[in-house]
Amino acid sequence: MSYELCSKIKDIMPYEPIAGEYRIRLDANESFFTLPDSLKQEIRDAVSSLDFNRYPDPTAGKLCEAFAKRFGISPEYVTAGNGSDELIAIIIGSFLEKGEGILTFDPDFSMYGLYGEIYGYPVSVLPKKAYRIDVNEAISYINTHDIKMVIFSNPCNPTSLGLDKRAVQKLVSSVNALVVLDEAYMDFWGQSESLLREVQNYDNLLILKTCSKAVGIAALRIGFAVANKNITRALRAVKSPYNLNTVSQTIGQIVLEKKDYLDYCEAKIMEEKAFLETGLLALAKRHGLIDEVLKGVTNFVMLRTAKADEIWKQLLSHSISVRKFPGHLRITAGSSEENKQLLSVLDKILSELEG
Ligand SMILES: *Cc1c(COP(=O)(O)O)cnc(C)c1O
Repeated sequence: MSYELCSKIKDIMPYEPIAGEYRIRLDANESFFTLPDSLKQEIRDAVSSLDFNRYPDPTAGKLCEAFAKRFGISPEYVTAGNGSDELIAIIIGSFLEKGEGILTFDPDFSMYGLYGEIYGYPVSVLPKKAYRIDVNEAISYINTHDIKMVIFSNPCNPTSLGLDKRAVQKLVSSVNALVVLDEAYMDFWGQSESLLREVQNYDNLLILKTCSKAVGIAALRIGFAVANKNITRALRAVKSPYNLNTVSQTIGQIVLEKKDYLDYCEAKIMEEKAFLETGLLALAKRHGLIDEVLKGVTNFVMLRTAKADEIWKQLLSHSISVRKFPGHLRITAGSSEENKQLLSVLDKILSELEG
């Protein structure tokens, strides 16, 4: 007997986040805040009284309510997932007919194209222009090819740039395709640029949110999809019933209800981001090796440099991890102390590379 893996997964390799222990982790866009002790105590009490023999609430009802309340929307539009990553996989795997195409952009979050390929849908990739989506070009591409789903992040990972609300509205209202709008970082830019409160006005808009970034609980794997009732009903029906475990539901609810704490963290993270960005802009003035620092709207900064590989390796050797892309580095804002160390080590590395 023999079995061979099918061609689309034969040579695929597992996603490898940076392996190893680093002193300063600025590679995954996480929050640098750990939960305060008082909150941890509240969590311990809540978790210790759970019925571990019982399956989780398949609707994650209380968690979705806490999320809906924080963002001023109705829970009837909300579905919880095991990270927004799981929701991306479910949506791409379920919302298309065989042969229908997916449109993504480059650069953007790499998972979109990956899941498209794994589930066997044709994936088109439009290159961005000066790091930005050309909305008119995207509309005409979608309407002249068999594209039934367009998916992108706004603000964008990895560029940190935001596409203004009116441009997104124009895209959504000009295509006969499902628009999957990943607002993982919108908390940092501001709710006035979000379409979260408008999903019920569209037949074809699905927004993704996550607790892994501004909310600061990446360990718990909690994401949300927000869409009109029709899309939400379908999504709730196709997801696996117990996709989000009771521990995550319980802790997520507790944390999402801490409005003052979350507002404080968001503001503080953006203060640190401003410090990091200013520091990087100053380094770019003094060092020819940094060609550009993108001024973004999220908790991370992207910079363009022909020496991305060398700088990345040197930073690792100082036990600082950042994310590397071809010709670019993406640096998450850390704590004040972490950002200062990053800037000072980077200054040294650049001087050495410049000889
Ligand atoms: C980090 C990130 C996510 C979050 O995924 P989770 O699975 O919820 O942790 C989603 N989309 C983008 C663009 C991201 O950068």
